[in-house]
Amino acid sequence: MSDTKDEDIKEPKSSGTYECGCHCGYIKFAVTLSPALPEYQVVQCNCSACTRFGYMLIYPAATNVKWHNDSRSRCAAYQFNTKEKDQLFCPKCGTSLGIDFRDFMKPHTYAISARTIYGVNLDELKYKKLDGVNLVKPAGDLSGHYWDEEKGEMK
Ligand SMILES: [Zn+2]
Repeated sequence: MSDTKDEDIKEPKSSGTYECGCHCGYIKFAVTLSPALPEYQVVQCNCSACTRFGYMLIYPAATNVKWHNDSRSRCAAYQFNTKEKDQLFCPKCGTSLGIDFRDFMKPHTYAISARTIYGVNLDELKYKKLDGVNLVKPAGDLSGHYWDEEKGEMK
């Protein structure tokens, strides 16, 4: 006899917690993802920011990112276009860490570069392509437009 009740119960999604950081160790944090790697679909986007910063993005809610040693406040940030997001970097070694969406995404969410996961094997991850250069407004390549050479500052 089969127990039909068991069939109604859905398998809980797997989840995994991953220690991450920059190259020099000044920035360290842990990310919890559901589903776990390698089932998680890592986003490869073709927009000017993702191309320049080498992002391969995972999207944990802010509550699933634990910053060690107050690392979030240690991050350097770059803003462009609408300046509603922080592109995060280590100010000491320059590692490209990901994006803080701040109020742009509710609930508060980060996009973290999978390249920051300690011991990650990029060949083992599952990828999903995003046509950001055409889908994220204003569409187009925004690289090379934010440094004002005359004023000597960021626009
Ligand atoms: Zn660093």
